[in-house]
Amino acid sequence: MDSAQIIETIDTGIVIFDSDFKVTYWNGWMVAHSQIDKEEIIGRSLFDFYPNIKKQRFLRSCKSVLAFGNLAFHPQDTYAYLFEMKPIEWFRFQFEFMQQSCTIGPIRNADNKITHLVVSVRDVTEETAYKQELIKLAQRDPLTGSYNRRYLKGFLEEELYRCVRYHRPMSLIMLDIDYFKQINDQYGHPFGDKVLKIIASTIQASIRKSERFARYGGEEFCIVMPETAIEGALVFSEKIRVLIEEITLYSDKTLVKITASFGVAAFTEKVKDIETLIKKADDALYKAKRGGRNQTMAC
Ligand code: GH3
Ligand code: MG
Ligand code: MG
Repeated sequence: MDSAQIIETIDTGIVIFDSDFKVTYWNGWMVAHSQIDKEEIIGRSLFDFYPNIKKQRFLRSCKSVLAFGNLAFHPQDTYAYLFEMKPIEWFRFQFEFMQQSCTIGPIRNADNKITHLVVSVRDVTEETAYKQELIKLAQRDPLTGSYNRRYLKGFLEEELYRCVRYHRPMSLIMLDIDYFKQINDQYGHPFGDKVLKIIASTIQASIRKSERFARYGGEEFCIVMPETAIEGALVFSEKIRVLIEEITLYSDKTLVKITASFGVAAFTEKVKDIETLIKKADDALYKAKRGGRNQTMAC
């Protein structure tokens, strides 16, 4: 059996080019997905057709394969893709380009000298979309889109490890909406949901990239502030408290006043696990509730 015929029909892109990146082989899969015919590309530089490929550390990988004969992997989770191509059924995906898992390998001549490189291209768009959706489902709260308790705990574990190891500060703010049961009872559950969403988006818009905001439970939220000592966290907590107080939300024509209470705790050498830190923030929050609500307390 002629192996060239098999390579021509397999469900993987196969591209062969020489050390000047001049294409010598372009299989059927590449023709079908790139919309570039063999006659067009063979004998031409790969970069004439894919100028952006250079940006993706592709050159470095090729040089290494040419010099050492190793395999160079370009997995989707690091590089997303090598060749800019529209995904099949592109309308089903949020990706502009087909997500690819690619491998670059050497081709030797009769003298065992590496003269060409072969790239295999696998379309992983569908599985990448599912993977991203699964990660989102596992980490996010469906109502507000914020991170959930599971994600928060994982993030806190990592940050706590960093604090202990490098003696860095970190603070945790816990907040709970005041008299939320009453809001639900008076204006209805859907209105309560709206309040949760507005509070979540207000806080999400106020935090830094390095910080995390999560829905911890029903109407309880957390903000993790790495590299922030208690003083900074208290200032931030007050800022958020005022932002929530200033939300203007109407149920029919009635302006509904929303407030929340805040508990702030910071990492100290005594904090050995995340449960201790969460408990400290929760205790502070309890103090804020007992003290009359709509206020911030530190542990
Ligand atoms: P406090 O000021 O002491 O915090 O009082 P509270 O009424 O806010 O606290 P309580 O724990 O008595 O009530 C919390 C309410 O939050 C009860 C529950 O029905 C409501 N809740 C929890 N999750 C959701 C949700 O997803 N949507 C809505 N609308 N309500 C929720
Ligand atoms: Mg509450
Ligand atoms: Mg509560």
